[in-house]
Amino acid sequence: MRTPLIAGNWKMNGSHALVDAFGRAFADAALPESLDVAVLPPFPYLDAARRALADVSVQLGAQTLNPSHAGAHTGEVSGRMLKEFGVGYVLVGHSERRALYRETDDEVYDRLLAALDVGIQPILCVGETLEERDAGHTFDVVLRQVGHALAPLEPEQRARVTIAYEPVWAIGTGRTATPEQAQDVMAAIREYQSGFDPDLAQAMRLLYGGSMSAANAAELLAQPDIDGGLVGGASLKVDDFLAICHSAR
Ligand code: PEP
Repeated sequence: MRTPLIAGNWKMNGSHALVDAFGRAFADAALPESLDVAVLPPFPYLDAARRALADVSVQLGAQTLNPSHAGAHTGEVSGRMLKEFGVGYVLVGHSERRALYRETDDEVYDRLLAALDVGIQPILCVGETLEERDAGHTFDVVLRQVGHALAPLEPEQRARVTIAYEPVWAIGTGRTATPEQAQDVMAAIREYQSGFDPDLAQAMRLLYGGSMSAANAAELLAQPDIDGGLVGGASLKVDDFLAICHSAR
């Protein structure tokens, strides 16, 4: 049985007030028992979020990390530092970082390794653009991204990776993949994993991301290969995020 994970990616949004609102809301929330929940605020709010969520079963995540553990990298944050703040998950390869900050598959792999090295669970984000989907390249693109990051890993490392399938055309657009579109790609990712190790493929957690909302979460999460959600916009509204958590039964 795979435990579902709902992870809220605040991107470059949020405030101390939002951190406090989450702390209060989750203190009162009766979440489903077999559910993992994580909040990924921007770096400056990590410590406040750690304190606000200390007594509730919500884990802390970060949105990126530098591939190095320390050194002359002005403005960057390492996995080792995130670990000190109690971070349990970190995104690697988010499409915004691939597009806006030109992160290549090689760099995504280096960040993934850095996270595994310090014992933080990476959430590897993969997904095709609209042009790639329209050209019929969805499966090639997604499996290339997955393969580039996972093929060189040791089995023990691969077992600690979560994959988020996020069609780029669905991120922040209000346009969601249909449950069938998402399921087809995620089944292909799991099938690809089976080539390495069928047991590992069955155990691997796969998240869907792309305009997931309180209205569409239940039907997405009901798909057999969708084990949770990476939620952007809707994770900034406490009630919506809680509703999505409750859909993951
Ligand atoms: C994301 O940022 O990973 C994301 C899925 O955003 P949104 O839910 O806003 O589409």
